[in-house]
Amino acid sequence: AQQQRPSDLTERIRVCVRKRPLNKKELKRNESDVAAVYPPRMLVINEPKVKVDLTKYVEQHSFYFDEVFDQDCTNEQVYARTALPLVEYIFTGGKATCFAYGQTGSGKTFTMLDQRHGLYVLAARDIFALLLRPENTALSAWVSFYEIYQGHLYDLLNDRKRVFAREDGNQNVCISGLTEMQVSAVDTLLSIFEQGNNVRSTGSTGANADSSRSHAILQIALKRATRAGKLRPYGKFLFIDLAGSERGADRGDADAKTRMEGSEINKSLLALKECIRALDQNGKHTPFRQSKLTQVLKDSFIGNSRTCMVATVSPNISNSEHTLNTLRYADRVK
Ligand code: ADP
Ligand code: MG
Repeated sequence: AQQQRPSDLTERIRVCVRKRPLNKKELKRNESDVAAVYPPRMLVINEPKVKVDLTKYVEQHSFYFDEVFDQDCTNEQVYARTALPLVEYIFTGGKATCFAYGQTGSGKTFTMLDQRHGLYVLAARDIFALLLRPENTALSAWVSFYEIYQGHLYDLLNDRKRVFAREDGNQNVCISGLTEMQVSAVDTLLSIFEQGNNVRSTGSTGANADSSRSHAILQIALKRATRAGKLRPYGKFLFIDLAGSERGADRGDADAKTRMEGSEINKSLLALKECIRALDQNGKHTPFRQSKLTQVLKDSFIGNSRTCMVATVSPNISNSEHTLNTLRYADRVK
């Protein structure tokens, strides 16, 4: 019976899976769709296999998550069941994080950081509306956008300038020098985002990573004005488009640089899994130090915090190994 209903939207950790449709190329190649979604919670991968005597059979792998989204779900529908329940929470001073985890090409950016319809914009629209309420007049929203590549932080709102994370006396993570821009309207946010996104993909140094090799973090921080007019950190919401999960896998063919990137990404994705798993223990014995990603997320994992992971999967048969890896990872997060 538990598997018939989606889980409670106010749970501290929610793990959801989203399947994208087959794309034109895959359809043209006549690739079969191996991922069957059975809302609200079940997903089955039908993996074709061949026996030694050459008879064919299908191996079925079933998974259960807090919620599964089929290929025809819109971002609005995904938003309503993932980020939306966290929006009001940051107005109580809570820290909310939404991750997109998955193989390159599976829909992470489409889900989280699509310029116009990503969860980040949909959440911002509702955050700006809540800021107008009389009880929230002391609050303001500030946006930052940065990237983690090879264990270093780069400010996407300041031409990929390198910035450094530290902790203040109250266990808040501060990134010194990180650009924060006050926003109260979707149009402003969109133009700020666009600038950052251009820097992300083209960068003036030419030394930047392609999006599959870096983690991108869009932060909307609420600040509260004190009577004396000082701004104090309040709640915050992080939208994270993780590096492609296939980058973490051992790849014998890769050159030294690619292997090094791969092991860094692997380390951060493994540390992330451990840190989310430890959320229920209130941050005790949590391996935050094991990667830059988990270091900057530390204050989003301790105290008042909620996390939602959206694992994105491709449906086509030639990606089924990566898809199974993604589902196994997501399965172990909780
Ligand atoms: P990733 O960021 O994981 O590498 P993208 O978000 O860039 O993947 O998605 C790859 C391609 O698939 C893009 O062209 C995107 O528009 C498309 N796509 C991804 N998810 C969906 C979806 N749920 N519905 C329709 N198209 C999608
Ligand atoms: Mg992407």
